[in-house]
Amino acid sequence: MLSAKYIKIFIGGVIQGVGFRPFIYRLAREMDLNGWVKNLGGRVEILVNRDKSEDFIQRIMDEAPNSSQIYDIETQIYDGNEVLKDFKILESQREKLGLQPLTKDRAICDVCLLEMEDKTNRHYGYAFTNCTDCGPRYSILKTLPYDRKNTSMSSFKMCSECQNEYKNPEDRRFHAQTNSCLKCAIDLKFYHQGELKGINEQAIEKCAIALKEGKIIALKGIGGFTLICNAMNDESIQRLRKKKHRPKKPFALMVRDIQMALKLVYLSNQEIEALTSSVAPIVLARKKNFMDTEKIAPNIETLGIVLPYSGLHHLLFQQIDFPIVFTSANISGEPIIKNFDELLKKLDGIFDGVLDYEREIVHFIDDSVVRLIAGEMRPIRLGRGLAPLDLNIDINSINVCVGMGAEQKSSLTYAYMDEYIVSPYIGDLDNPDTEKRYEEIFDFFGQIYSLKPDILARDLHNNHHSSIISAKKSTQIQCKEIKIQHHQAHFCAIFAEAILQGMDIKKENKVLGIIWDGSGLGDDGNIWGGEIFLGNLCSIERIGHFKPFGLIGGEEAIKKIYKIGYGLALECGANKIIESYEKIIPKKESMLLKMMFEKNINTIKTTSVGRLFDAVASICGLVQNNHYDGQTGMILEKLSKGSLTQECYDFKITQGTILYEKMILQLQEDILTKDFEKIAKKFINTLAKIVLDFALSYPGYCVVFSGGVFQNKALCEKILELFKPHNIRFYMHKLLPPNDTCISFGQAVYAQYHFRDKK
Ligand SMILES: [Zn+2]
Ligand SMILES: [Zn+2]
Repeated sequence: MLSAKYIKIFIGGVIQGVGFRPFIYRLAREMDLNGWVKNLGGRVEILVNRDKSEDFIQRIMDEAPNSSQIYDIETQIYDGNEVLKDFKILESQREKLGLQPLTKDRAICDVCLLEMEDKTNRHYGYAFTNCTDCGPRYSILKTLPYDRKNTSMSSFKMCSECQNEYKNPEDRRFHAQTNSCLKCAIDLKFYHQGELKGINEQAIEKCAIALKEGKIIALKGIGGFTLICNAMNDESIQRLRKKKHRPKKPFALMVRDIQMALKLVYLSNQEIEALTSSVAPIVLARKKNFMDTEKIAPNIETLGIVLPYSGLHHLLFQQIDFPIVFTSANISGEPIIKNFDELLKKLDGIFDGVLDYEREIVHFIDDSVVRLIAGEMRPIRLGRGLAPLDLNIDINSINVCVGMGAEQKSSLTYAYMDEYIVSPYIGDLDNPDTEKRYEEIFDFFGQIYSLKPDILARDLHNNHHSSIISAKKSTQIQCKEIKIQHHQAHFCAIFAEAILQGMDIKKENKVLGIIWDGSGLGDDGNIWGGEIFLGNLCSIERIGHFKPFGLIGGEEAIKKIYKIGYGLALECGANKIIESYEKIIPKKESMLLKMMFEKNINTIKTTSVGRLFDAVASICGLVQNNHYDGQTGMILEKLSKGSLTQECYDFKITQGTILYEKMILQLQEDILTKDFEKIAKKFINTLAKIVLDFALSYPGYCVVFSGGVFQNKALCEKILELFKPHNIRFYMHKLLPPNDTCISFGQAVYAQYHFRDKK
């Protein structure tokens, strides 16, 4: 063995579709090494001269491509005694090694963009220009390993020039699976009112003209169709709102560049960095001129901004000089549409024209959404560029587990050994089409990893669609099912993320978990959502919660929030508020609601902070019907920014129960002043003060936060302001959204921890 000339190096991590093998090839050539490199379907195997291997490994770690991530490097002495003369890239091999990170979609890179703008370059003006460093990945992936034949590029034959680039290890398009050019083009087609009006260059021209005329266009993007129109044209926006049945929900805008964005919103360096990153997410930024953008995002502080992220977007912006509304093409609550036929079937009549192209979108994926909260860019929606998210958690389990996710903002998490793969945001499962896509993703992950799940980890609620599918799948594949309470899953998600991000807590240490959101079934049959836990992965104790109040009419009240406000007023005996409701609710209805409340008919009890936001917004007369999830939180947040008061409402904590009657009674008096900015600020201050009081009663514990309520920037930042003088350690989500998309991950972590060494 001592005389062995060669050594094998295995590298694991994000190394597929990021130009890793060409990088190894060039480095080996440069260092005069002999041997080969090959892809094992998630890992890379390299054979090189043993004597120079140390330097070689060091340089791999120092110089690896930006978009790659190395998780582990192993070496193995190779005792073959053949003599190798040069360095080669060998054909890919499929190896079943458990879960491998999947490569993510990336925005077009600067080098490709320059080529597209260079008249002498053969990629000039070509909408699908990409290289090993950029372009679609997951959205076109059919199976592993990530090779052209396993993607929806397989039906496009490369011209000889593209073929040469693809084959040449010295070229920056060596093994660029999406390689194509004008000669072997993916055709673009523009249709207007059902008629083909232009192909390729002409298609873009015609599309730009239609936008200038105020038309609504369905544009095929990376992860699905988006509806676009001129954002400066009020009539187009109104038409789009009417047709999409979205009277209030904010739209995001795509702008040509940062300069155009700065006319609409304030941007910090961190936000600019996020916008221009290869993820190219929608950034929720603070509006500059409310007049200009009020129709786009009514009554809230933020506006979603995204920069062009594909060659096609850039070509379009060469011909228009205004921002465009950029919203997923779907019927409210349904998944984003990914092909032309479906578009016609579902949205016919909503758009005037379609800009379509030939390549198939294999996986729908929404744009990611991020927001600067408490000094960090934090995900709000896990989509293109961020997902599938791969996390390595130091819980080595012998089981393959699938976290089945929540009912709203659902996702799926596959876990095995120390690997966790979180799917992109899927959506709300009460919609049959979303449910279908959810099952497709479940099957896709099972198929690419060739792993049969041992455990399905799902919610307590038996009637959730995720639970029904879980029951069906567990019978089909004959595996175990484990139920985890919704907020405990949130707790596990933030706990594992905090450890992963290097917080100074060990798995056996306890942390204080503030888990506030809209709703989730609790252990006691009530709807929880204002929970405080003390614990770790091993045991979670509910040490605090808001006093439950009646949700009259059950779940339906979530849309008609005057019922929540009225119920809370009845609960607290706030007579002036009750009276004012009785003026706006028809007498018959208010009598019925009161009777239901008093006799406890069709009234469920909830501890939800999300519902408290609804109640306060309704009591103030700001909103009576909820148009989208989180609406009241965003409205109160915006108002709160208008007041500098440090005042709080009174509350009491008795044996962990948070009593807020006094708050509602004081609020009742404040309403007479009509200073809603101050009321909103006092309400948010009060919630932050409640968190501080718990943190101070449990000194020394790190405080972690999860649940949709913590998408509220004003609340998060107020809490940290109160924490500062006390030096309280805390952690907020940075890798996963705080909302229900993180549930599948939390479920998987819980199950993998508790069943790590037993089947
Ligand atoms: Zn590129
Ligand atoms: Zn070509």
